Amino acid sequence: MTSTRTDPIVVAGTGHVGLIAAIALGQSFDNVISLGVVPDGSDRRTTALMMPAIRFLQRIGLWDKIEPHAAPIHSMRILDGTNRLVRSPAVTFEASEIDEPAFGYNIYNATLTSVLNEALKQSSVRHVAASAMRYHSVEAAMAVEASDGSMFSANIVIAADGRSSLAREAAGISARTWQYNQTAIVLSFSHTREHHDISTEFHTEYGPFTIVPLAGKRSSLVWVTTPAHAAELLELSLEQLANRVEERMQSMLGAVTVDVAPQGWPLSGLVPTSFARNRVFLAGESAHVFPPIGAQGLNLGVRDVEILLETLPADETDLGSAQIISTYNRKRSPDIIARTGAVDALNRSLLSDFLPVQMVRSGGLELLRVFSPLRSFVMREGLRPGSGFRWPRREADRV
Ligand SMILES: Cc1cc2nc3c(=O)[nH]c(=O)nc-3n(C[C@H](O)[C@H](O)[C@H](O)COP(=O)(O)OP(=O)(O)OC[C@H]3O[C@@H](n4cnc5c(N)ncnc54)[C@H](O)[C@@H]3O)c2cc1C
Repeated sequence: MTSTRTDPIVVAGTGHVGLIAAIALGQSFDNVISLGVVPDGSDRRTTALMMPAIRFLQRIGLWDKIEPHAAPIHSMRILDGTNRLVRSPAVTFEASEIDEPAFGYNIYNATLTSVLNEALKQSSVRHVAASAMRYHSVEAAMAVEASDGSMFSANIVIAADGRSSLAREAAGISARTWQYNQTAIVLSFSHTREHHDISTEFHTEYGPFTIVPLAGKRSSLVWVTTPAHAAELLELSLEQLANRVEERMQSMLGAVTVDVAPQGWPLSGLVPTSFARNRVFLAGESAHVFPPIGAQGLNLGVRDVEILLETLPADETDLGSAQIISTYNRKRSPDIIARTGAVDALNRSLLSDFLPVQMVRSGGLELLRVFSPLRSFVMREGLRPGSGFRWPRREADRV
């Protein structure tokens, strides 16, 4: 028996990556099933979506629905918030330096979920509000059993079911995982001074303390610190917490009012041994987990979806062929492995008290501060791999 495209594409997981994948695939393919219980609004994080992800969301008609709820980030600033002997210079990156209208936009996760869920309802995709319970490989298909009793014989499965992905395990893909001795405290707050659409990242001995603009005089905060310090912060009253936040950022935004209770997110890392196997394609946190530095996680997940769409031929009868699996692996590996390694190295360099490491980090930031072509390169590469290399060529072509 050969599988044909009468078998559905099953997208397992309805986090942001799963919802975006299902909506995008539904525009190119018939018979797409989104399988998962859409999260309630309890996630109090915000996400900074960067311009390359936004351009993809524009292409699939989602950005117009998201933009009214999102706040632009025009500048990004790195400040040394340590008490170390070797201190790094302040570096500011302006989106206008690389001809971008903004680096990206910041949005509440709960709002993003509800906008995407609404778009899913209006799409051709069939949503099954249940969890995948079991998978097993059958000839030329992947059988999926859901918690509501429904069963599907999937031509392919998109594993957007997060870091503990059952679909990844069913495909026989193992993953290397590790823990950081760090927890991210997330909260949002109002302040008396304007943020001028600037995101500020203080580098501290325990991790980054990152403020990202929201609409009006509001910002969100990701405060990466030790688990013990995080536990202490979570015990404080909102007023006491506001004082700590204001103190940490040296009253940069004036008086702070924390009006949304904080949440703690323990940090960990994950890299799988491959990104597709046995009719299962990994996307989002089933394929990569790393600390929240430089807003890379969901942006990388959106890129998984974009590359998946590029890789799956719309007229192919079997989307799970060995050739398609191998193409997806080849296209995703360098980007995911490089991002995971870079974020891990940057995070560890903040935590290291080793003087030479501090000197290299400080020297690197000084170079970025004074040498604008390098700054442009880093900004472009930070947004999308390869675009830093392409940009000077495009500029040269114009001359
Ligand atoms: C503090 C913090 C701040 C961050 N800030 C940013 C940022 O500013 N920018 C950025 O790009 N990234 C950011 N990230 C990373 C980003 O949050 C993640 O990359 C993103 O949420 C991953 O989405 P996902 O859909 O892959 O996974 P998830 O959100 O984990 O979704 C997976 C979904 O699958 C469901 N599921 C699990 N098992 C099954 C099953 N068997 N069947 C069906 N469904 C299943 C789960 O219930 C869940 O709803 C941040 C991360 C943290 C921790």
